[in-house]
Amino acid sequence: EAKDAGGAQYHVYHDDMYQRVAQRVMLESEVRQALAKNQFSLSLQPQLSAQDKKLYGLEALLRWHHPERGMVSPDDFIPIIEKSEHMIELGYWVIRRCFELSKELRNKGYKDVRIAINLSAGQFSDINLPQYLSTLLAEFVLPANSFELELTEQTLVTDIEKAIDTMNNLKALGFTFAIDDFGTGYSSLAYLKRMPVDVIKIDKSFVFGMLENHADYQIIMSTIAMVKNLGLLVVAEGVESSAQLRSLTENECDIIQGYYFAKPVPEVELFAFLDSHIDEGHWKTKAHH
Ligand code: C2E
Ligand code: MG
Ligand code: MG
Ligand code: MG
Repeated sequence: EAKDAGGAQYHVYHDDMYQRVAQRVMLESEVRQALAKNQFSLSLQPQLSAQDKKLYGLEALLRWHHPERGMVSPDDFIPIIEKSEHMIELGYWVIRRCFELSKELRNKGYKDVRIAINLSAGQFSDINLPQYLSTLLAEFVLPANSFELELTEQTLVTDIEKAIDTMNNLKALGFTFAIDDFGTGYSSLAYLKRMPVDVIKIDKSFVFGMLENHADYQIIMSTIAMVKNLGLLVVAEGVESSAQLRSLTENECDIIQGYYFAKPVPEVELFAFLDSHIDEGHWKTKAHH
């Protein structure tokens, strides 16, 4: 009996592993085709200053419209292709698209709205990245501070000295940096003072239950205090309710991102969306019925 069960378990494990490997190989080959077939797009999620609802930035979030599987979430395919060449190629596509959008934003009068670009560990350690970014700055004639590069703690632990070096080089060009998903990774606070970071993004997992869970609340409030004492900006992501917004604003969180204001907006709808929600750089107050 026990032996049978063990055998069965072994099989399950084996199949699962096989499936994961097969899935990765399939996804990797599909990504290249998907790029050629224009199956990727960006959605952009507004970030607003808590105090005066000024539009601070837009985070670019990758979307894959798969012909059979429908919309594939980045959380489902990015971790799988993260360590491959395809992520680097896809990452370059994302960056170029963000430059195009930034140019368009300026041309349409949204002058100092930052675009936040997520960079995976593999992309950030790619030696061609700084050259690629500086070439795009010249090609599009855009100031580097139109962009905020989002790194996770994961990216920074891989080779911290090299990461700091790359950050300093990109900082010298004028790019700004955010630490994404702050508090969920494995990083030492000691590095915070050595890195040219501008923004800390509190992970949405702390925000979701912040008004019900005492620990989440305390973690958020002490993070806000620490970040501000370091002279950096603090963003809360995953803000879904007016009660969360009120609490974060009272506690001097700088910037709010979340479904309460807006879900990520597909790029084809971006300008219609901004024109109907933004007035002179500020979020229009909701009409009360
Ligand atoms: P992230 O960078 O932490 O992005 C925030 C995620 O939280 C997004 O999920 C966004 O849609 C979601 N979100 C924002 N506000 C709310 C809210 O109020 N409620 C809820 N439930 N969710 C909210 P998304 O778009 O599925 O992206 C997931 C992750 O995939 C991103 O997390 C990021 O790590 C990665 N990713 C997305 N686009 C790219 C990209 O172009 N490059 C790289 N390297 N990673 C990307
Ligand atoms: Mg992000
Ligand atoms: Mg995040
Ligand atoms: Mg995340």
